[in-house]
Amino acid sequence: MAYYDHSFLWSFVPKSERGGMVIIMDLIPSFQVDHTKIVPGIYESRVDTVEKDFVTTFDIRMKTPNVEPVIHPNAMHTIEHIVATFLRNDEEWKDRIVYWGPMGCLTGCYLIVKGRPKPNELTPLLIRAFRFCAEYEGEVPGATPINCGNYLLHDLNMAKYEAKRYLEILENSPCYTYPIANRIETEKGQVFFDS
Ligand SMILES: [Zn+2]
Repeated sequence: MAYYDHSFLWSFVPKSERGGMVIIMDLIPSFQVDHTKIVPGIYESRVDTVEKDFVTTFDIRMKTPNVEPVIHPNAMHTIEHIVATFLRNDEEWKDRIVYWGPMGCLTGCYLIVKGRPKPNELTPLLIRAFRFCAEYEGEVPGATPINCGNYLLHDLNMAKYEAKRYLEILENSPCYTYPIANRIETEKGQVFFDS
């Protein structure tokens, strides 16, 4: 079983056909997290390259896994809609947002951005986004049969409650460093990934 730490492997591969030395970024796709030691925070999950550009996936962890109640699917769905709407309209970050969506375990969300910002660089953006959600009034954006695959699966009040709780974490020095564990393999030798 392979053990990966959170450092990145860089290999220098000569490409003689181009007449020079080209850096090939051989990034470890992600590391295994010890979910028994996670606390809410903002975590870099993995870094990928697309062509020559970085794309970074962050875990926006809102709950302590397997300890506190998870976010109800209805509230999570509403958080997905409202926070996505905010992120894709934020003047500073909108051009770097690739994806925002819920984790299947319902303890948080994934945020994928262009580039390789550090987790703490996202804190001001997420504070703005979750304050927007916590204070949201009116119709949930996109919660109609035309725009959504399950438009009745929403709960604005609970979304606001959960957003307020996570906002308090964001405003009080959230955790940025994941506890590491050995990555597991399936019986058929496939390496497990949780995202
Ligand atoms: Zn929807």
